Amino acid sequence: MKFRASKISTMRTWGLLLVFGGMGLMVFGTSGILLFGQVGKIIAGIFMVFGLLACAASMIIYFWVGMLSTSAPVIECPECGKRTKMLGKTDRCMYCHTILTWDPAEATTGVPAEEQTLSHS
Ligand SMILES: [Zn+2]
Repeated sequence: MKFRASKISTMRTWGLLLVFGGMGLMVFGTSGILLFGQVGKIIAGIFMVFGLLACAASMIIYFWVGMLSTSAPVIECPECGKRTKMLGKTDRCMYCHTILTWDPAEATTGVPAEEQTLSHS
């Protein structure tokens, strides 16, 4: 998987995946009661706990992203002209995924070191 989106939207995606994962675990756990009876109740309990943990984690991520995006500076993207938020020194545009940077030294290379290592995996 390539790291194509901006940091804020990537974190939102992870938050969403955690919610669905958590709900999936809870549904799966509940179906265990029907399939395995008494033992299924214990399994369902464990899955419920993990599902709730995943949902809680996603809420923390959403809250954190909200905090970050309010403090992130809003800039106008030079590529598409839309207003996007930047996290850290280097980030991608939320709309056209152009890499934007504050650092003039990074601007010539285009792809920051963090992105290069991720694209190989
Ligand atoms: Zn753009």
